[in-house]
Amino acid sequence: MIRVYNTITKTKEEFKPVVAGKVGIYLCGPTVYKPSHIGHMVGPVIFDAIKRYLQYNGYDVKLVINITDVDDKLIAESNSRNLPMSVIANEMTVDYMNNLAAMGVKDSVDAFPKATEHIDKIIKFTQDLIDKGFAYSSGGDVYFEVGKFAEYGKLSHRSIDQMSGEGGGAVERKLSPFDFALWKSAKPNEPSWDSPWGKGRPGWHIECSVMSCELLGETFDIHGGGLDLVFPHHENEIAQSESRHGKPMCCYWMHNGLMQESGEIGKVGGRKTPAAEEGNIQSQEIGKISKSKGAGAFRDMLKQFTPETIRFFLLSTHYRRPIDFSFARIEEVGKGLETFYRFAKRLEKITEKNFYLLSAPTNRNNGEILKRTFASNEKLQSNFCNLISSYRTKFLDSMDDDFNTGGAIGVLFELLRELNKFIDDTRLEVVRDEDLISVLLYGATVLRELGLTLGLFVAQPKEAASTGTNELVGKLIKLLIELRNSARKNKDFNTADKIRTALNDLGIQLEDRTESTDWNLTK
Ligand SMILES: [Zn+2]
Repeated sequence: MIRVYNTITKTKEEFKPVVAGKVGIYLCGPTVYKPSHIGHMVGPVIFDAIKRYLQYNGYDVKLVINITDVDDKLIAESNSRNLPMSVIANEMTVDYMNNLAAMGVKDSVDAFPKATEHIDKIIKFTQDLIDKGFAYSSGGDVYFEVGKFAEYGKLSHRSIDQMSGEGGGAVERKLSPFDFALWKSAKPNEPSWDSPWGKGRPGWHIECSVMSCELLGETFDIHGGGLDLVFPHHENEIAQSESRHGKPMCCYWMHNGLMQESGEIGKVGGRKTPAAEEGNIQSQEIGKISKSKGAGAFRDMLKQFTPETIRFFLLSTHYRRPIDFSFARIEEVGKGLETFYRFAKRLEKITEKNFYLLSAPTNRNNGEILKRTFASNEKLQSNFCNLISSYRTKFLDSMDDDFNTGGAIGVLFELLRELNKFIDDTRLEVVRDEDLISVLLYGATVLRELGLTLGLFVAQPKEAASTGTNELVGKLIKLLIELRNSARKNKDFNTADKIRTALNDLGIQLEDRTESTDWNLTK
């Protein structure tokens, strides 16, 4: 039985979808005004793993992540770069998609609805709220009247006097400072659309109510997002959707912890932060990483670490806890991952079978069938086979318990240790025994089966990644760039050109920017 922690009830509840066998998940996506940083990958990687695990449990899962492509931040960026908002939104959406593709998440997402492609439906939804008496127009804006929705605050567990009047718009146009904007009248030179209330654009919260309903229905299963979205964003989504439909918007509200700079390193933002308390939004926000604190573009991080290392790092923590970010932590996690890669090589040497091609069950119920395909009755009874089964059960128990990926990864390490120990004890590297090889293959297949439910071990890592040279190469190129820059400073252009040409021949292209030099692989 899968149990899910629900923010709205503050308890773990048995997971039961609205429609048997089907699961709809809506995850709040990014506002596309800057290149993605690692913080933008947390939700997609976590919910990709949750989707994979639910599929493994036999559910047909639809995952939706929205793209906010009209927003105050985008308008500000458009003004400062003197480019149309849509150009910036498109550019940053491409960046986001490339990053998701690199992380192996893009294909897992069934739809990426955009706010600007749903303006007509947003207007209709807003008009319905006015007609039902939950919203009012005022000076070209439309506001949701918070006082009309008796359950306001039920998700964030706040009473109205604990809330600050957020939600945008002009205070003088609102009946109460707590009311929030559904529609904002256009200021001069702002992108706008025609509406019954004049030219304007949607507020932020309304798009998620509209698009989730459009793609997943009036009541769907799981709504996810970062802990920082509980209030006001998700509280407002509930108010909008439940006022219009008269039924719960979704069954399980799941919130992931935020990424914060590790206190131990501090160089990401140069600011040490206390460990955030689980589930406490305020304490997690203190250390939330952002570009301004030094977390650079995610595409640059991909030059330093493999996507699988980053996935392993993100899933090593339980999703509700804050993720301690530091490059040292990712490197450390990467070393752990390499122990799996080394096992794969060891296995191949002994069995002549490629670990990444082992056909592992994609359905939870096939575990026993798997066992029988590998081992004879007698061998099945062996302590080792039973041990493997017990680790499998332990892994599944962890995942059933509110998708505890951190605990599950811990079990993968235990299983790995047992498999290596089995090879050592049986001396399989020197003594060939077909029965024992078959049992080893069973254990390895279970390892791959479980890893796949987290999106791990999907494909064979590139050689460089598996030996850890990827990170080393990044550091060496950085060193060469520094040497080249100091050569240029000393007007030693010969040396500088030599470094550039030699790197170019190796398929590494340097790009000089105002402040720094970037590099790209061309081969
Ligand atoms: Zn949202």
